[in-house]
Amino acid sequence: MIECTNCETAQFLQIVRSRVYFEDGEVINELSERYECTLCNATGTYARTDDNDVEVSGDITVTTERPKYA
Ligand SMILES: [Zn+2]
Repeated sequence: MIECTNCETAQFLQIVRSRVYFEDGEVINELSERYECTLCNATGTYARTDDNDVEVSGDITVTTERPKYA
C-alpha cells in the first residue's frame, strides 16, 4: 500500500490523477498515479511499468506492512 512519508499513513492520501496506458487499443499493465495528502499537502507519484517495476517519487512511500489504522 502507499503511505504519506510525513504522516506515515495512507489515511489522508487521495489520487489526484490516474493514467493507464493503452497499446493497440488494449490496456497494458502499466500505470501512473499522482497522490496528494490532504493532511499535510504532500504530493507524490507512483508508477508501475509493464515489468512490474515500481517507481515512487515525492513524499509517498510504498509499504507492504499492514495498515496501522484498519
Ligand atoms: Zn501527509
